[in-house]
Amino acid sequence: MKLTRFVHNSVSKYGMIDHGKVYPLAGTIFEKPIRDGLGFRLEDVRLLCPVQPSKAICIGLNFKNHASELDMAIPSEPAFFMKPSSAVIGTGESIVYPHELVTQMDYEGELAVVIGRRARYIEEQDVDYYILGYTIANDVTARNLQPKDGRWMISKSFDTFLPVGPWVETKVDPHHLEIIVKVNGTVRQRANTDDMIFSVPRIISYLSKVMTLNPGDLVLMGTPSGVGELTPGDRVAISIEGIGCLENIVV
Ligand code: MG
Repeated sequence: MKLTRFVHNSVSKYGMIDHGKVYPLAGTIFEKPIRDGLGFRLEDVRLLCPVQPSKAICIGLNFKNHASELDMAIPSEPAFFMKPSSAVIGTGESIVYPHELVTQMDYEGELAVVIGRRARYIEEQDVDYYILGYTIANDVTARNLQPKDGRWMISKSFDTFLPVGPWVETKVDPHHLEIIVKVNGTVRQRANTDDMIFSVPRIISYLSKVMTLNPGDLVLMGTPSGVGELTPGDRVAISIEGIGCLENIVV
């Protein structure tokens, strides 16, 4: 099932995608989805980020091939950082290049876990119950600022640096998905989530023992090798098998 948020006639609603149409829901995507009214063609609505997260937690290094690309050892423990909710945009929205401070801005195509239920002290075997599904995210990074930016709070946090969407897929195995990132039609990242170092249950269980995870919170599972630069005018498209395609233009 594909769940999202969209705007039609200036009103934002939660919706369910079915055969190229989006159907408004009576409630939110965190309850049992009940259709409320006729569907709209996807071309006739504007999709929003499917959730409004209270926080987005990211893993610093979680793909073996990205670790070797950076000439770094495979970590024994995950390293985390956060991106603010103010950085979130949806598919089709523009990534704004912050010229005043940034001289290198990179894309990082990533699988994102979408929390569906309030989660605190969850064991690994129970994690699935708390996950609504999976979506696609771009962990946009000001690479030139990163070396002097201890926990990466500045380099990861500019407005529009967290494109998310186009929807949440509820039925997908997160550990066997192909990720393909294209910039202006050219493939720049291609990997499979079976190369991830830390699994979804391990990460969600661990985080839930630190902080409460709220419905709509996002956990980005890290990027594979092939990260690279974006410049104004570029179109970046991140496809994940079984989910869809997140597409944004840089302005
Ligand atoms: Mg990343």
